[in-house]
Amino acid sequence: MMPSMTEIAQHRQAVLTRLQAACAAAGREPGAVRLLAVSKTFEAEAVHQAWCDGQREFGENYIQEGVDKIARLRELAPGGGLVWHCIGPVQSNKTRLVAEHFDWLHTVDRLKIAQRLNEQRPAHLPPLNVCLQVNIDGGDTKSGVAPHEALGLAQALLALPRLRLRGLMTIPDPVDDMVAVHTRARVLFEDLQRALALPDFDTLSMGMSGDMDAAVQAGSTMVRVGSAIFGTRPSKTA
Ligand SMILES: *Cc1c(COP(=O)(O)O)cnc(C)c1O
Repeated sequence: MMPSMTEIAQHRQAVLTRLQAACAAAGREPGAVRLLAVSKTFEAEAVHQAWCDGQREFGENYIQEGVDKIARLRELAPGGGLVWHCIGPVQSNKTRLVAEHFDWLHTVDRLKIAQRLNEQRPAHLPPLNVCLQVNIDGGDTKSGVAPHEALGLAQALLALPRLRLRGLMTIPDPVDDMVAVHTRARVLFEDLQRALALPDFDTLSMGMSGDMDAAVQAGSTMVRVGSAIFGTRPSKTA
């Protein structure tokens, strides 16, 4: 069931308050962390409601669902300044849809996918913002480049002018000490910032509803929050 307008507004406000508290506790500026609202499985109307409340950046996992919602929001919120982030895995046969419709992709972990996106990004759009997904906790069935391969892949991406490398993204498994896991990602992020010296390499996408406080403490600059804003997703797609 779709959460009501008031619920979305209240939940989003509570998340913003949580983020501010986490920033304050970590001695970081109040605006140091951007909130990406993860709207996967929720209707376009829920996105519209969050937009009415001031939310501008949205994350989608499933490409076709995202493309449909992007089109719908163009009608519901014309000139609305929405920024669309693809945060799900992308197969080769879906790169064109991502290149043509999204503003960001968080899950680049192979050069081949990046090359296709670079070729397919339409000339009338700005370069696609991309983050490298890093498998920071070494789960062997998970996607993401190994930490020691991140710099090499980042350097290869610099040859692709239709992509703009913005940073790293992680999805670690839940453990007791999330701050320690997230801190490994932040250290890698800073190593790459020094090695690459790119002015736009400014995004560390980590933290979700359950671990955003730990992620902010460790240095996240963008948290991806779904259920804490929109409510519980149907379990088959969670
Ligand atoms: C679903 C999802 C999220 C949001 O998860 P919540 O626990 O609902 O906040 C964030 N990042 C990725 C990659 C996701 O797939």
